[in-house]
Amino acid sequence: MGLKKLVIAIDGPAASGKSTTARRAAALLGYLHVDTGAMYRAAALKVLRTGTSPDDPERVSQVVEDARIVLQRRDDGLHVTLDGEDVTDEIRTPAVTRVVSAVSAMRRVRDVMVREQRALGAGGGIVLEGRDIGTVVFPDADLKFFLVAGIDARARRRQEELRARGVTVSIAAVKEELGERDRLDSTRDESPLRKADDAIELDTSALTIDQQVAAVVATAHRVMGEREKK
Ligand code: C5P
Repeated sequence: MGLKKLVIAIDGPAASGKSTTARRAAALLGYLHVDTGAMYRAAALKVLRTGTSPDDPERVSQVVEDARIVLQRRDDGLHVTLDGEDVTDEIRTPAVTRVVSAVSAMRRVRDVMVREQRALGAGGGIVLEGRDIGTVVFPDADLKFFLVAGIDARARRRQEELRARGVTVSIAAVKEELGERDRLDSTRDESPLRKADDAIELDTSALTIDQQVAAVVATAHRVMGEREKK
């Protein structure tokens, strides 16, 4: 009999190492990787493109409900399409980053995303990363991680990522943006960022990516082994 395919939740604040860890762990396990932040970013991009005010929940919700947001796995990584157009790069621009927390705080926006995420994970064999996976999207996930890292380590990583895409930002500006987004994401009424009681906390400040990935994969194998014995 094959091993049961798990649902693995990875949550944490901005730039805590979720995406790289989730992507590599999913590849090693042969699982699907779902970057839920990319889905909220695509929703925010649609809001910007339609000239909708991010302060108008009614209009924003309508625009997002009408959007077609799809994650696709390609050889060079995860791609995001919005109404059929590949927006993988555009969702990482500072303009999108500035409005995404306001858009993702809206209940109807979250309803659309959560429904889609639950459908993707229904059969297991999936690593989902975000802010509310272990608390709201899959409260019964087989394995939950909460990644944290100090603000200095997170800011350095984000600055490096932006630089690789040709965007130059000062470390002070990156720190301010991360701090503000974490504040908004943690204090909102709908599905605020928080660690699930049964999540394993991993502080990635002093870990290499290989160590982070190994921690997730080893725990997944242990859980699968325990299930097999039952
Ligand atoms: O992970 P990333 O930084 O790309 O997420 C962008 C934003 O999307 C977050 O700051 C948060 O506002 C929102 N988000 C969310 N719930 C998730 C994933 C992301 O509210 N599960």
